[in-house]
Amino acid sequence: MDKKEILKEFSSDPDRYYKVKLFADEGFTRKSCLKCKRFFWTLDSGRGLCPDDADDTYSFIGNPPTKKRFDYTQSWKEVESFFVKNGHASVSRYPVVCRWRDDLYFTIASIVDFQRIMGSKVIFEFPANPLVVPQTCLRFKDLENVGVTGRHFSSFCMIGQHSIPNSQGYWKDQCVDLDFRLLTDQFGIKKEEVVFVEDVWAGGGSFGSSLEYFVKGLELGNAVFTEFQGDLGKHTVLDQKVIDMGAGLERFAWITMGTPTAYDCCFGPITNKLFNKIGLSSDSELLRRYFTEIAKGLEKFEDLSDVRKYAIKKVGVTDDQVNRIITPLEGIYLIADHLRTLIFAISDGALPSNVGGGYNLRMILRRVIATMNRMNLKLDLDEMIDIHIDYLKETYPELNSSREDVKTILNIESGRYDESKSRMEKVASKLKGKGKPPTVDELITMYESDGITPDYLKELEVISEIPSTFYAKLSDLHQSEKKKGMEELPLDGLPETDMLFYNDDPMEFEAKVLRVFAKSVVLDKTSFYARGGGQEPDHGTIANYKVIDVNKHGGIVVHDLEGGIPNEGDIVKCKVDSLRRENITKNHTSTHILNSSSRSVLGSWIWQHSAFKEEDHARLDITHHSPLSENEIKEIEKVANSVVKQNIPVSIDYFDRGDAEQKYGFKIYQGGVVPVKSVRIVSIKDFDVEACGGTHVKKTGDIEIIKITKTKRIQDGVVRIEFVSGKTAFEYIKQKELDEAKSLEESMKKEQMQNQRDERKQKAREKIPILLEKISAYHNDGVTVFDEMQVHVKNSIKLCLTSSDQYDEFFHINFGKKLVKDDPSVTYVGVFETGPKIRIIVYSGEKASKSQNAGNIAKSMAEILGGAGGGDAKFAQGGGKDTSKKDDAINKAKSMILG
Ligand SMILES: [Zn+2]
Ligand SMILES: [Zn+2]
Repeated sequence: MDKKEILKEFSSDPDRYYKVKLFADEGFTRKSCLKCKRFFWTLDSGRGLCPDDADDTYSFIGNPPTKKRFDYTQSWKEVESFFVKNGHASVSRYPVVCRWRDDLYFTIASIVDFQRIMGSKVIFEFPANPLVVPQTCLRFKDLENVGVTGRHFSSFCMIGQHSIPNSQGYWKDQCVDLDFRLLTDQFGIKKEEVVFVEDVWAGGGSFGSSLEYFVKGLELGNAVFTEFQGDLGKHTVLDQKVIDMGAGLERFAWITMGTPTAYDCCFGPITNKLFNKIGLSSDSELLRRYFTEIAKGLEKFEDLSDVRKYAIKKVGVTDDQVNRIITPLEGIYLIADHLRTLIFAISDGALPSNVGGGYNLRMILRRVIATMNRMNLKLDLDEMIDIHIDYLKETYPELNSSREDVKTILNIESGRYDESKSRMEKVASKLKGKGKPPTVDELITMYESDGITPDYLKELEVISEIPSTFYAKLSDLHQSEKKKGMEELPLDGLPETDMLFYNDDPMEFEAKVLRVFAKSVVLDKTSFYARGGGQEPDHGTIANYKVIDVNKHGGIVVHDLEGGIPNEGDIVKCKVDSLRRENITKNHTSTHILNSSSRSVLGSWIWQHSAFKEEDHARLDITHHSPLSENEIKEIEKVANSVVKQNIPVSIDYFDRGDAEQKYGFKIYQGGVVPVKSVRIVSIKDFDVEACGGTHVKKTGDIEIIKITKTKRIQDGVVRIEFVSGKTAFEYIKQKELDEAKSLEESMKKEQMQNQRDERKQKAREKIPILLEKISAYHNDGVTVFDEMQVHVKNSIKLCLTSSDQYDEFFHINFGKKLVKDDPSVTYVGVFETGPKIRIIVYSGEKASKSQNAGNIAKSMAEILGGAGGGDAKFAQGGGKDTSKKDDAINKAKSMILG
């Protein structure tokens, strides 16, 4: 939809679209900007230019238009009390991790809190009407601006003022009246200072007029009146008109404080603490002028570096001042901003990682660390987190309880950054050698695969500037997930299937065949659970044909059959495989139990990432930063089994979605978003409460036992827990016990044999004197054997050889040495195995060595064994690894000595 077209159309009929009651009552005049022609409403008769073009733009810096000064926390109190006084409910912020929409990772605007997607339509669910909410919003699109422009944040508080016009809510007149009185009555801004600019908003198929309100050139808020749908000209009025007024709380604080930047009045004591560390202050005329020009420059130039150059030149900042004051200040603002964002995100259960929105969180933490390194700032992250939370808890008390978890995660993550530094350095130096700077796409790939941030590359001077499109592109890539499509079947005209598994759940039933396809069938009702929420489908038979798969297409259940197909109109007998169902059901409830057990053992950041429940095995993937230790696994199993033992009833209740969210919070969306208005809440008392469409046991005791079989870190930030329950678990434990008993028996056998061998070796040593006597005295021609030792005598050449395993190295050395002494005509060859190797020891007596060289014998034998050997004529040793050649080596020795 072309916004310009709509604006032209609306502005051609201002009485209808823009002229609210307040303008008439107060006497506002409508003007067209002398420069850009935009229409605006003002009480100042002398004003000819719109807020962006007027000379007073950002003149509040150093000269605030209010008598009172309010920082971030106090500003919210003022806003909240004003709206509550005027009939609004003040609603607590929603999580920054957008669990209720699967097309967004993070909450990017206050109105998102109340949007639910039904099919392709966005509908609004308000917990109260009208309402106001201090919604923390995360935006990673223009990270390069953060810390530099004075007004861009990676997370900010959007004051959301929302109303649906009906008997309770209001429409344009009252909205603009309230916003005007908030500025003038509550904040004390002069009426003449407030300017309303005509604009339009369009998105998601709907559109409407809007009025942006400015004070001294600063846009404080934008009241959007979503009213129409369809294409301009053919548009119709929405059934549900909505007021979406969003204002920046940081800007409200800033305009009353008049500090050089919005950062100076919105991070509480942390900025001063950091300033003290580097011996700076932002309270100076130079900075007031510099940031005023930055603000003006932002309207003039596309590129941030040009804005900076313009301001530096306009104010006359010297190079020395840039290096000594401006750059360090920007670093400090960045650190304060990014840490605040991380605190909100981690508190709400997100983890820095290589998965989805985790990319953005890892990016900003790495920016913090790179900035600290560049500035040579030694900061205690724990202390920074404490200071932030102590300040923020006034407005967001829930942050207090996740203090320790935030510290844990940030410490692990910064450790990881340090660990990956050497790899990052290698990649960076390679890049530097190339001489050509990487493209934006290359930079994105480098970050995604190696975690290398452009800030780091800038720090190492591989690149001189971060390309202006980098963050926007990365943020787009990781702002939302793409949804998988499902195969389309022509199901038009069919009624939704009556899903018996949500009611009586009979395992045998009769149903009418409504439609058949080549291999699948649709019934009027079914007890076959359709694949969903990670639970595998039921099996069984329909009209004696095997059911092999069951899927839900919208509200219609499609059964895939094998072996044949019934006819349309048939009444068929159906039978669900109840044993399979029972096992899958136990595994499903076990998944819920293990999920909450993991959270209680590991930390609040544990969320179900995904799950899979089959008949004989199941797995649960959880969001966690590190692999699980043996102890953690044991502990999780212990907690889970104590829940089983307590035999807690598993109850299933239906709630209106909004009520369920208010009652239980967004933790119910462990299995993802629920696209229906009435949610099925499965609860195991307070231990685990989830929105879930699966089948569950009646009492936890029905599961009997849960056994974790394996855990594995399957990707950065995700750990897989594989497990079994019920009968399968008992079988698993029994098998494991059998395996363990068997391996124990085997190792005992091994040990016994080793002991026996050792004993024989010990005995062999004791036999040395007797054997010596017998062998040295033996001189008859031919072959004889004494105690596994062969003695060959041939032509007065004598060989004594053994490869018996009762003789070890100690034996051969001692025996051989003594034997050749007692009988100088003998050659002794001892062969023995040690570990994977065969070793040889050869002794030749004084007389024998003249013709039988021990060194040559050892060398030749060792070669056959694939190794090496050597020594002198009287003593040599060697060996090799090829045990299969043992006999060949022995035969070689025999033939060398005896011929
Ligand atoms: Zn203008
Ligand atoms: Zn479930």
